[in-house]
Amino acid sequence: DDAAHDGLKWKYHDPETLQNASWKLSMLSQLDEAIDRGEVWVAYQPKLELSTRRIIGAEALARWTHPDKGPIAASEFVGAAEQNNRIGKLTDFVLDQAVAAAAQLNQRGIDFEIAVNLSARLLTDKGFTLRLSALLARHRLAPERLTLELTETAALTGGEGLDMIMRLRDLGINIAIDDYGTGLSTLDYLKKIPANEIKIDQSFVKGVVDNRSDRLMVQSTIGLAHSLGRKVVAEGVEHREILDLLVEMDCDIAQGFAIGRPMSLESLTKRLASGRKRGAA
Ligand code: C2E
Ligand code: MG
Ligand code: MG
Ligand code: MG
Repeated sequence: DDAAHDGLKWKYHDPETLQNASWKLSMLSQLDEAIDRGEVWVAYQPKLELSTRRIIGAEALARWTHPDKGPIAASEFVGAAEQNNRIGKLTDFVLDQAVAAAAQLNQRGIDFEIAVNLSARLLTDKGFTLRLSALLARHRLAPERLTLELTETAALTGGEGLDMIMRLRDLGINIAIDDYGTGLSTLDYLKKIPANEIKIDQSFVKGVVDNRSDRLMVQSTIGLAHSLGRKVVAEGVEHREILDLLVEMDCDIAQGFAIGRPMSLESLTKRLASGRKRGAA
């Protein structure tokens, strides 16, 4: 009808939409150069082991501080880069920074694991495992200290993707299923992907205190993962009450604003040092 038609017309001529589309394109064309110019950096979000109350590592998250636009959300530029097959350089950059940081901390005697998000596209890149083992060797980081996080849809690229996952596991690298529960989480999938770790999506974790279904889903996911010999990470832990409940539920690791926001390597290093002093005292 007319109203719907008007709505559509309005949408097509919406200056903001047009601006967004062209901004998306120019943003993409700028990303690789932004990396060279040093506008892109890596933030680290701590991972807390619940049984020991120790920070055992961190997740590396890409950040882009644009000179004019300010900080650009990762969901924005990572998503655009993925859709347009431009994720390679960003991934190499984040991996290099994150592996170097983890190696440095371990060489200073701090037990530390690093997790890096990996786009599905790279599971079909034949040279990826080779480049990755060279990177680990160059920085002298044990492959067991690296976890690659794949979203459910991402890892599901058929035989080729699964082969790559097997090769990464053979190298000793850990695999985590990210945002678990939001993608194609069939039991068959959980059975086939040899993941060491399941990261329950924030949307379920946020509701564990007030929402019965969320609590039951988190609880049964923890049970299922444990029966399969996998560790469970809860994402998006924003409050203390959630953290306490997760301990009761026998969750292994927690991540979220209640534990620490994504931060610079410098802040993370300070946080690790103060935690060690507290632990010793
Ligand atoms: P993700 O891997 O699931 O990362 C978790 C996201 O949740 C991060 O957003 C983090 O800042 C945010 N977060 C952590 N704790 C909390 C919390 O307690 N509350 C809330 N509301 N949010 C929390 P970020 O950094 O904006 O990243 C968004 C997504 O972008 C990531 O989701 C990941 O899929 C992707 N991403 C980020 N960096 C990279 C990268 O280097 N490579 C690839 N391929 N993807 C990346
Ligand atoms: Mg992740
Ligand atoms: Mg996630
Ligand atoms: Mg996500």
